[in-house]
Amino acid sequence: MTSRAAMPVSVMIMEPHALAKLHSMPGNFAQRGWSTRCSSTRLIHGRIQLDSISGRQRVQCSATTPSPPSQPCLAETLPRVVLKGGKNKLFQGENRAVIVYTGAIDCVIGRPPPKAGDAVLLCNGDRRVIALGVINPESLYAVRIVEAFDRGVLPEYLSIDNIDAEELVQRIIRTRIDHAMMLRQALSLPCRDDDGMGRTTAYRLINSEGDYISGLIVDVFDRVAVVSSSAIWIERRKPSIMEHILQSLPHVDRVVWRPSREMLEMEGMTPEELDALCENDSTTEQGNDAANVQQQQEEEAIVEEFGAKFHVAPRGQKTGFYVDQRDNRSFISQISKGKDVLDICCYSGGFSIQAARGGAASVTGIDSSQAAIGLAQRNATLNGFNNTCTFVKNDASKFMNESIDQKKQWDIVILDPPKLAPTRKSLTSARRKYESLNTKAMKLVKPGGLLMTCSCSGAMTQSHGQFTKVILSAARRAGVSATILHKRGAGGDHPINPNYPEGEYLSNYLVRIL
Ligand code: SAH
Repeated sequence: MTSRAAMPVSVMIMEPHALAKLHSMPGNFAQRGWSTRCSSTRLIHGRIQLDSISGRQRVQCSATTPSPPSQPCLAETLPRVVLKGGKNKLFQGENRAVIVYTGAIDCVIGRPPPKAGDAVLLCNGDRRVIALGVINPESLYAVRIVEAFDRGVLPEYLSIDNIDAEELVQRIIRTRIDHAMMLRQALSLPCRDDDGMGRTTAYRLINSEGDYISGLIVDVFDRVAVVSSSAIWIERRKPSIMEHILQSLPHVDRVVWRPSREMLEMEGMTPEELDALCENDSTTEQGNDAANVQQQQEEEAIVEEFGAKFHVAPRGQKTGFYVDQRDNRSFISQISKGKDVLDICCYSGGFSIQAARGGAASVTGIDSSQAAIGLAQRNATLNGFNNTCTFVKNDASKFMNESIDQKKQWDIVILDPPKLAPTRKSLTSARRKYESLNTKAMKLVKPGGLLMTCSCSGAMTQSHGQFTKVILSAARRAGVSATILHKRGAGGDHPINPNYPEGEYLSNYLVRIL
C-alpha cells in the first residue's frame, strides 16, 4: 500500500459520467503530479477520495509532491474481458458462472492482449468488474472463473499496490487446495484407523469445478497423488501446484502429473507442445495395453478401500483407479454374501474384490484390456480371493452373447462400461449402445436378481431421465420387468458446484430384474 501524505486542496461535485471519465484516465492525473484514489468505487490508487452523495460523487482532490511512481494496482493493470450485455445474467441472483464461453464475450481490453492462462478481470456489459478469471483466447472455455465478487464488493487485493497477479492466482489456488483437503478430512478421507468399516486410503482430493479449481483433478492413492490436468492455466502453474500438494499432505511423497491430451488439444495446444508435455505419459484415456508393464509396476501404489487392498497403477486408466465408485462398491460388498456375481468392464476388479470380501460364492470379472485383467488378477491374489474370483479378457458384448447362448445367469450383474457418450451430440447413438449392453446384461440376471448398471457419460447423466428410458427399453427388449431400487452417483469426495451441473457425470442405478 502506498503511504505518501496527501493534502486536500479542493472539493468538487461530479456527475456520474464525469466520474467514469476520471476512472478511465488515472494517467492524466499522474502526469500533472496528481493521482487518483476512489475509495468507494473500484479504482483505488493515489489521492482522490470519492464519496456518494445521492447519485453524485463528492471528490476530494489532493495535490502531492511528485514522488517516484509506485507499482499500479491490479484493478488498473489487469486486462479486462467484457461480457455481452445479454450475458449479465451469468452472474445475477444466485448465478455464479464457473466458465464463460467464447460466445458470451463482447471484447477484451488490454495491451498487449492477454495470453492463454493469464489473469483477467471479467466485467459486466456495463463495465462493472464482477470476477477474477484466467483467459484462454484459443479455447471455447474462454474464461475460467477464479473468484466471483459477490454483490459488486471488490476484494482488497485489487486495490493494493505492488500485488503481482501471478502470485495472487497461485495464492488462491493454494487456498482452494487447503479447503479441498479440509472437506475430505470432514468425510474421514483418508481413513487410516480401522473403525470397523476398514481403512480407506484412496480418494479424490480435488474435483475441478466442484472444488473451484477448473481443470484440475487430483486423486490420492496412499503416498502417491495423481494429477489429471485439462487446462493451460493449470499446466502453467504445475510447479507451484505440485509443491503445495507435497507440502500440505505429509503422507504423500510423490506426485504423478498426467496432462489430458484430448482436453489440452481443445485448449489450443499444438501437437508438438502436447508431445513434449505427454512424453512420460504413454497411456491413453481408454486403455493402456501398450504401456510398459514393468515401469507401471514399479510406480504402483497399494491402497485400501474399506479394508480391501488394491494395486493402483498411477499411469493406468484415468488416474489409475476409479475412486468415484467407492461407495457403490461398498454397497455391492454388503449384498453379495453367498451370491454369484458378474462384473462386466471390471478394470482392476474394484467391484469384484468388494463382492468377494462380502462373501460372494463366485465372482467373474470381464474386461477388454489385458493390462486391466492382469491388475485385477493381482488384486485377487493380494486379498486372498484367487479361489473366488476369475478374470477373463473379453469384449463385453461378445462375452454376454456367448453367456446368453450358454443360458448362464448370475444373482448380481454389474455393468460399468466406459464413457459411451463423450458429448451431448453423441447421446443418440450412445443411447443405442447403452440399450444393447443393458438388454444383454438383463438377460444374464437370474429372475429376482439385481443389475447394477452405470453410465459415466455426463451427457447421459445430465439428460433428465434418458438413462431411465434406456433401462425401460432394455427391459422390454430383454423380456423382463425392471424396478429401479436406487439412483446414485459418485461419493462426497466428488463435490458438484451447483453452478456447474456439467460436473455431475456418474449414474449408478440398482435395478431388480424379474
Ligand atoms: N468398474 C471399474 C471401472 C470400469 S471403467 C471399477 O470399479 O474400477 C470401464 C472399463 O471398461 C475399463 O476397464 C475398460 O478397459 C473397459 N472396456 C472398454 N471397452 C470394453 C469392451 N468393449 N468390453 C469390455 N470392457 C471394456
